[in-house]
Amino acid sequence: MKTYKIAAIPGDGIGTEVVSAGVEVLQALAKRDGGFAFKVDDFDWGSEYYKKHGIMMPENGRDQIKDHDAILFGSAGAPDVPDHITLWGLRLAICQPFDQYANVRPTRILPGITSPLRNVNDKELDWVIVRENSEGEYAGVGGRAHKGLPIEVATDVAMFTRAGVERIMRFAFRLAQSRPRKKITVVTKSNAQRHAMVMWDEIAVEIAKEFPDVEWDKMLVDAMTMRMVMRPETIDTVVATNLHADILSDLAAALAGSLGIAPTGNLNPERIFPSMFEPIHGSAFDIMGKGIANPIGTFWSAVMMLEHLGEPKAAARLMRAIERVTADKSLHSPDLGGKATTRQVTDAVCAALAGDN
Ligand code: ATP
Ligand code: MG
Repeated sequence: MKTYKIAAIPGDGIGTEVVSAGVEVLQALAKRDGGFAFKVDDFDWGSEYYKKHGIMMPENGRDQIKDHDAILFGSAGAPDVPDHITLWGLRLAICQPFDQYANVRPTRILPGITSPLRNVNDKELDWVIVRENSEGEYAGVGGRAHKGLPIEVATDVAMFTRAGVERIMRFAFRLAQSRPRKKITVVTKSNAQRHAMVMWDEIAVEIAKEFPDVEWDKMLVDAMTMRMVMRPETIDTVVATNLHADILSDLAAALAGSLGIAPTGNLNPERIFPSMFEPIHGSAFDIMGKGIANPIGTFWSAVMMLEHLGEPKAAARLMRAIERVTADKSLHSPDLGGKATTRQVTDAVCAALAGDN
């Protein structure tokens, strides 16, 4: 029997609550399936670790997880630790060296969930947003000089490489090709950002030739926000830069009903390093410890993890269980307008798994 080694990094805030729920559901799934098992190793890295040790994760942290089959991540961020430490000290300290350059964010309206868009259903809003996750606006290149003086300057250089753009474009076209509609929109801002974004447009034309069966169009990012709201049914797969897709995918999560249900995979498609799966929400300190965090975003991320591990049947089984639970409004957590606790939603998904044929 195959045993998958999973590194669980709950991190901060509600990350700890949703990741333990996620592990519980994965174990219930393995028990139900019988064909594979999970060995889960927990890592207590994050802001509490930082307060004790002055770093978010140990120096040899990456060595401790590099041979795991996948990483299940919660969230990094605390009110009393600066963002650049929590972000660059843990999440990006894993994403960047593990070359998880493809950030994949499926968006769909699950049964029982209401979108703020009127009259839209799950057939009209079924997207996957691919975010370039290794360079661009978040490359960390730039600087500041003459602090405090009128001549102070500050720069953030959006840095794109041909190799980096080609690989994310090819990844996204391949993903579009694997979906029923075989359709992709390449999002840039090439009218105003006249160097890198023009290179994106040119590379899109080149890569599109490798995928003659994929229908594609391009769109400026500002127009794209409008299209997502006004004509959601015209969109399938989307590829955009680190910054643009960051913004588009938060909008997408809101249109799908709640930040609490949205999943992400940070993929190293070549599988040289482990990939990392996480809900898109943050630490949500306002609801921490209350037992009401919605764990669905983590469960859906676990579905993506199973697909990546090569367990499509188990992935489909878990997705069915999630949808059976969201369809029942009495099992909605407060972010969805209900009263259900993390415990109740988790138990319900485990029960749905046990009853799934
Ligand atoms: P971070 O700085 O870590 O990104 P944040 O506070 O900026 O955290 P989120 O943690 O994503 O942002 O939370 C935004 C809002 O959405 C909060 O009010 C939070 O309570 C709510 N929220 C986020 N995730 C969930 C969830 N899983 N269940 C319920 N509510 C959630
Ligand atoms: Mg946030």
